[in-house]
Amino acid sequence: MLSAWQGRIFAGVAVLGVTCVAVSHGAESAAPLKLRFGGDQTQTRVVLELDQAAKADLVSDGAADGHVVLNFTQLKVGDDLDGQGKGMVRAWSMEKGVGKVKLSFDLARHGRIKRRFLLPPSDGQTVYRYVMDIEADAGSAPQQQPVAPAPKLTKANIAAPTMAAAPVAPALLADPEAPPPEAKSGLQKISLTDAVVTPRKRENKAIKAIAPTVRKVIVIDAGHGGHDPGALGGRSHEKDVTLAAAKTLQARLERTGRFKVVLTRDSDVYIPLEQRVKIARGANADLFISLHADSGGDPKVRGATVYTLSDHGVDRTAHSVFNGGFINVQLPGKDMSVKQILLDLTQRTTRNRSGAFAETLLEHISSETPLLRRSHRDAGYMVLLAPDVPAVLLEMGFITSPEDEGALNDSEHREKMMGSVGDAIEAYFAEPQPAQVAAQ
Ligand SMILES: [Zn+2]
Repeated sequence: MLSAWQGRIFAGVAVLGVTCVAVSHGAESAAPLKLRFGGDQTQTRVVLELDQAAKADLVSDGAADGHVVLNFTQLKVGDDLDGQGKGMVRAWSMEKGVGKVKLSFDLARHGRIKRRFLLPPSDGQTVYRYVMDIEADAGSAPQQQPVAPAPKLTKANIAAPTMAAAPVAPALLADPEAPPPEAKSGLQKISLTDAVVTPRKRENKAIKAIAPTVRKVIVIDAGHGGHDPGALGGRSHEKDVTLAAAKTLQARLERTGRFKVVLTRDSDVYIPLEQRVKIARGANADLFISLHADSGGDPKVRGATVYTLSDHGVDRTAHSVFNGGFINVQLPGKDMSVKQILLDLTQRTTRNRSGAFAETLLEHISSETPLLRRSHRDAGYMVLLAPDVPAVLLEMGFITSPEDEGALNDSEHREKMMGSVGDAIEAYFAEPQPAQVAAQ
């Protein structure tokens, strides 16, 4: 049985009176800018906006005593802060300690913090977001929500009345901060952005597009190959670890029976970058994922990175299409300006999808990798240029880091990481896709 409060969805935001984005800061101190809440009474997402990256240790997940505690080691606050929470969180506080800042949540019902990850600036977001998901334990009853006094040092902006009736909008599902795909069915999902949410109906067309009988086409691109070894580690070549990963991912996806997988190469051969794009477009790919391994001068630098196409890359696609380059897109009509608009719409849809998948991918691989970045790739991004195929490039780790190189060459780790990539692909296609604007 649902109480009136239980069925309600909210979004709220506390502005943390700290504004030092423009101030030059030391190497290791991030400033908190905002704390935002979204979700509902069983699943609450808390987003801490930061002006730079920060790390936190989980001291208590909340299961034992209803208090979630995290220690941020690279955070600075002027004063202690606190305020009223939302949903699963009754109240929050941020306290200065020696060499750390303690962020605590009092839970409104039995539950625990389920996952947390850092999202770097991307897609119009200029700040870092430390995301924390708090979920109710199954069967725990919601407690009476007390009327809390106005929060000290914070401004709250609760948009509950307008949010309550909002049906699920496909666009919201692509939001990187929307509740995770494994949300229990029957729950509404809602964006955490401060923007006004315009209710939109879920389109039948979009639902049809994910009918389970239609196998999605995934093109997996193992970077480099043949006479191009890619980056060199202490004992392995990038071209070999990418091929091994591609085959592992192929097997992972084919086991489900829901995907048709095409590899751009399945042996140690050189395939030109243009050819890789042509393979993706020729296969009518629903998703293109290019696998690489990073390199750097510092052997201590490690971790995975997900790249999508930058603005600059999008312009290059248009240039190629209209100047007889290698991307051959048939756009209807004779009017150049109409063609340009059609290509632009196609690219925009594709970029939105690429961005949505990149965020899903980051969420899923975050448990396997120590360092996460999300960025637009400006060099060597040729393989991401297809205007009509959502595409990401995954640097699986640094082959120049002994630790990462060990992991990249370890079949057990490879199974795990490609398992997460497979999970991300399944999660991505489980959500309705916005209709593709046609350019054939
Ligand atoms: Zn590479």
